[in-house]
Amino acid sequence: MLWGIMREKRLVLAKILGLVILLPSLDNPIFCQSRDTSSGQLALLGGTIYISPTENPIRSGVVLIRDGKIAAVGRRTSLQVPRGVPTLDCSGLTITAGFWNSHAHFMERKWADAANIPAPELAGQLQAMLTRYGFASVFDTGSPWENTRRIRDRIESGEVPGPRIRSTGEGLIGKGWLPPEMVLNALGFMQFPVPEVADAAGALAASKKLLDGGTDGLKLFAAASFPPFATLPGEAIRAAVHEAHRRNKPVFAHPGSRDGLLAAAGGGVDVIAHTTPQSGPWDEAVLAAMRQAKVALIPTLKVWKYQLRHDRASLGDLRAQTTAGQLRAWLASGGVILFGTDVGGMDDYDPSDEYDLMAEAGMTFRQILASLTTAPAEKFGESGRLGRIAPGLAADLVVLSNDPSQSVRAFAAVRYTLRDGRLIYRASR
Ligand SMILES: [Zn+2]
Repeated sequence: MLWGIMREKRLVLAKILGLVILLPSLDNPIFCQSRDTSSGQLALLGGTIYISPTENPIRSGVVLIRDGKIAAVGRRTSLQVPRGVPTLDCSGLTITAGFWNSHAHFMERKWADAANIPAPELAGQLQAMLTRYGFASVFDTGSPWENTRRIRDRIESGEVPGPRIRSTGEGLIGKGWLPPEMVLNALGFMQFPVPEVADAAGALAASKKLLDGGTDGLKLFAAASFPPFATLPGEAIRAAVHEAHRRNKPVFAHPGSRDGLLAAAGGGVDVIAHTTPQSGPWDEAVLAAMRQAKVALIPTLKVWKYQLRHDRASLGDLRAQTTAGQLRAWLASGGVILFGTDVGGMDDYDPSDEYDLMAEAGMTFRQILASLTTAPAEKFGESGRLGRIAPGLAADLVVLSNDPSQSVRAFAAVRYTLRDGRLIYRASR
């Protein structure tokens, strides 16, 4: 018997005559096999469990979930599952902590007017971009904030299944850096105003506005994406970083160029959101600046291949070589890496190639698992709650069809995604 752990009848809030009442929602096809566990308990039985990226896996294990948290994890032979607890057969499968995609966007036109997208359609979009690939947490690094907030509200209310969403809201850019409307249109993006900044005062005002509005961090474009690749002034970057850090929020930078990368690291940002394909290899000066700033790097290797899909293959190969080299150099210098694909900026959502490219650049499957779980949890201050499978932590879990120690593409072959002990994605077989 297959079952999930969504509430028996998911509830929607409706306001009638000023009174809040609870109504049963229509069954969502994604959850047709879901039902209440009543006890709030669930046991994942069998399979190989990677409780963290560094520890030995538990073979033929059990994960016991209670009230959205991990109650216990251990070997099947030593961990007793209490009578009456519903079970999910995971034999032959592999279980890890829930994945993070630390670079995504809700800016394609399909997300517009998020308050009014029919629930099944919104659920389907979240599934196609994120949950079907195991992403139980996502950091949106650039989108219209009020719209993204609506998506998050609808997930958090229980109306639609989806990941935990954090967002930087609209990214800060230099004056005149926004691509023309026609280009944005052709890329499939919504039209929305973004804060253009030229100096420290402008950056501070824009940062305050975003953070006061409730964003979970800031994103800034350190360099323009067209010649002569102007760079945001260092004082503007520092002003934004200071304001975000004062509130314990991270700052992501789109580096764009070597100068942009140096300006971002010098300005104290927390996350470099891309490698820099046009800059050539990263020399020791670049690596030292990144190390000193203690940044984490999101390589986004696949997106370069995607952006160059209309160009000569030799150019794509050259850029792929450059960015793989940059990742390899950062890895060798002991740098932190976060997994992120730029989905939503790229309409090919499948992360399989990213896993392959990370492995080709020298990352082991354990390092890739860390980039998906413990590294983002630590970087974003959530390691007490997320990133590992341990008693007391949130039951965010991914169940994979195959073991990623055999092939890293297995990270993309997801059977189930759970968030807070609830099934938010289940593969149809
Ligand atoms: Zn992006």
